[in-house]
Amino acid sequence: MTDPCYALFAVRYASNPRRTARDSFLMQHDVHDGPLPLDFFVWAAVRDGRVILIDGGANAGTCRARGHDFERCPADGLRALGLDPAAVTDLIVTHMHWDHAGNFDRFPNATLHVHPREMTHATGPCMCEPVLRRPYDIDQVCAMLRALYGGRLRFSDDDFTVAPGITVHHMGGHTPGLQVVRVNTTRGRVVLASDAMHYFANATTRNPFPVVVHVDAYLQALRRVVALADTPAHVVPGHDPLVLRMYPPANDVSAGFAVRLDVAPLMPSPLMP
Ligand SMILES: [Zn+2]
Repeated sequence: MTDPCYALFAVRYASNPRRTARDSFLMQHDVHDGPLPLDFFVWAAVRDGRVILIDGGANAGTCRARGHDFERCPADGLRALGLDPAAVTDLIVTHMHWDHAGNFDRFPNATLHVHPREMTHATGPCMCEPVLRRPYDIDQVCAMLRALYGGRLRFSDDDFTVAPGITVHHMGGHTPGLQVVRVNTTRGRVVLASDAMHYFANATTRNPFPVVVHVDAYLQALRRVVALADTPAHVVPGHDPLVLRMYPPANDVSAGFAVRLDVAPLMPSPLMP
């Protein structure tokens, strides 16, 4: 039986135009410095009225406290696409960093999916280290624990089917429990890399984003993400502003913040050989 196809959207909820290239690569001496904005997204897969959300983003207060420009609540981003936040049945949390693991209250009917290694990392001895703790938000971690005790959380296996045509795959690297999501669409299987690949350039230069727990696993994940996709043009990085320029707007009102990922890109992917 063939897997069903989903409409697939990237929705930007925040950005930071003040970032430079040196902020985003581990080996800084290899980088030509200059402006390199950071975009913040959630992603939505839609079929027959069912919405599966990939990451919950962050709220305005959390985002601004960390110096980034909040634009819209991800739930309002979905509404602009004609999607009802109450129709979100599943919220796949790629990892529990502050910019991915918020807003659970905005999607009250969603089952949360997280990898067990991420929960262990975010609530265990590693959080005694400020450098590892900093990308996490205590209120979000508490909300995740409340979801666990409320029977709303499901732990993913390393390769796990959330719904027919939507699978999650454990990668690690950036964080120990990072998982990426593969979605079947009419153009083939698209991989949402989340923070396995912040920018295309992290992959093309094999130079990791500097927030990274295990560099070796991160570098392996760059290859594994591409291997999971039908072609390199089916890989969508997690924070690259190029995504909004590569793909067509989702609808008339979403130009500049939401695009369709289930149709072919308008320009060649930097990952194509
Ligand atoms: Zn991130």
